[in-house]
This record gives sequence, C-alpha cells and structure tokens, in this order.
Amino acid sequence: MPWIKTNECKGCAKCISVCPVNAISMIDSKAVIDQKKCINCGACLTVCPFDIIRPNSENPELKGLGNGRGGGRGRTGGGLGGQGSGLGNGGGRGMGRGR
Ligand code: SF4
Ligand code: SF4
Repeated sequence: MPWIKTNECKGCAKCISVCPVNAISMIDSKAVIDQKKCINCGACLTVCPFDIIRPNSENPELKGLGNGRGGGRGRTGGGLGGQGSGLGNGGGRGMGRGR
C-alpha cells in the first residue's frame, strides 16, 4: 500500500481523482489515504507530480508490516495506553495503575 509524505503534499488533488475506490481525501489541504479502503492499485503512486506518494517499502515507519507491537505503561491515574505501530496486527494496550 502506498503512503503519502503528508507534510510535503502540495494539495493538487491529482491523486484523489485517480483513485478508483475514493480512498484518498483531502484534510487540511493534504492528501490522506484511508488504508482500509485502498486496494493497492498503485494509480496514485504514478500520478503524483511531486513523488510524494511512495510505496510502503519506502516508509520508514512501516518496517515489518503486520508486526506492529504495542506497549505502554501507566503512570498516573488510570494509566496511559501504549500505541501499536505498523499495519496489520499492530496493537497495544497500556497497563498501569494509579498511585
Ligand atoms: S493505491 Fe490505488 S486504491 Fe490505494 S490510494 Fe492509491 S489510487 Fe487509491
Ligand atoms: S498528487 Fe501528490 S501533491 Fe497532489 S494531492 Fe496527491 S499527494 Fe498531494
């Protein structure tokens, strides 16, 4: 699946018009892909004039797809939950107790 270097998006909306499943939307003038809708057709990758949409293999945050792991520790009160990273089965749960 593709990802967008959101900060560099110029908001030209070309990717939005080519996506066959309307997986891309514009939020604050930046294109955002709904990964749940994306069918990985690759159309947006080729149409972006600024090469801002990249394949997941180049996403530094998504190394190891499906292996996201969560962790977290509570600090005060109810405890803060950890956050999982990575697509697929990433998930985390916080554990912690208030003092
Ligand atoms: S890869 Fe295809 S389906 Fe996914 S966001 Fe890009 S254009 Fe849409
Ligand atoms: S085509 Fe590229 S620059 Fe244009 S809105 Fe999409 S991600 Fe942004």
